[in-house]
Amino acid sequence: MSYLRPPSSPDSLRLHLNENTAGCSPAVLAAIHAIAREDTAFYPDYGPITAAVERWLAVPAGWVLPTNGLDEGLHLAAQARALQTRQPGHVLFPEPAFEMYAACADASGLGVVRIAPEPGFRFPLDAMLAAISPDTRVIYLTDPNNPTGLGVPRGALEQIGSAAPGATVLVDEAYADFSGRTAIGPMLDRHRNLIVGRTFAKAHGLAALRAGALVAHPDTLAPLRRIQPPFSLNVCAIRALDAALGDRTYLDWYVAQSVESRRIVYDLCARHRLTCWPSEANFVLVRVGDDAPAIVAALATRGILIRDRSSAPGCAGCVRITAGVVEHTRRCLDALEDLLATRAR
Ligand SMILES: *Cc1c(COP(=O)(O)O)cnc(C)c1O
Repeated sequence: MSYLRPPSSPDSLRLHLNENTAGCSPAVLAAIHAIAREDTAFYPDYGPITAAVERWLAVPAGWVLPTNGLDEGLHLAAQARALQTRQPGHVLFPEPAFEMYAACADASGLGVVRIAPEPGFRFPLDAMLAAISPDTRVIYLTDPNNPTGLGVPRGALEQIGSAAPGATVLVDEAYADFSGRTAIGPMLDRHRNLIVGRTFAKAHGLAALRAGALVAHPDTLAPLRRIQPPFSLNVCAIRALDAALGDRTYLDWYVAQSVESRRIVYDLCARHRLTCWPSEANFVLVRVGDDAPAIVAALATRGILIRDRSSAPGCAGCVRITAGVVEHTRRCLDALEDLLATRAR
């Protein structure tokens, strides 16, 4: 699968997968070290961690389904809808999009309908509404989007949710800790076909432990609960997540680092007259030009990994740079500046 972690030397600076470049909170490691022999031997109880996530997201009991990373949640949404009708159908999403959505459709025997990007990545609301049909099973929306970092405009979720009463609208909020915005709230009660997906991989730095959550009305989650394996999160992920949620100071520090990192990326783009998009997430999409693949390769030889997105729809000439710890971003930008200077000559 294209989504698999690309090979890289272990000491590379990883700015290609939007991971937390500082690692997890030290409290997370302490919690893992505190695991006892019996803890690894007994099937875990999900009650306490589910309650902790419900508190963290400020939703009532029963509104959270913890998942083995958000990826599992994305799959569950497609599988549950495919099973419900057992008729041919499709998933629908605007491009450019996270690669997993098409994989979820494949895994569930569903087709894929992709909405082409509009100029400036304006959200294609009319095209989305026009594409909805009785065969639409799941609509994946990423807010803020990956790889653009742009938000879904206000009101679009409700409009799409109302226009597709027979489909699940999965709002992927993998980067909500950075955007500070969420669809979690009264809207989920009014629109029972909406499910919000969250991950603790990115801002909380738990990508390797696998911890995510789906948030929706309990009736909406019920068909997904039925098909999820009963022990999807392992004990390390549970303890780590609990500790991560308890360390708000660390999260706030990291989010602030990301804000400053994005600012210095924008500065570089302004100096070199490169197009980039104002990002609400921990990365920036930058149009470096036709030599984007060569620039990505040249940075890789210097031990700095960024993501070539030039073949994604609407993203010709673009790379995506993770904006995490400021010092890491600076190292990347210094090297990029070097390459751009050589190119200018
Ligand atoms: C990283 C990412 C995910 C996956 O999160 P995991 O919890 O690691 O499975 C889901 N959606 C988007 C848009 C992402 O960028």
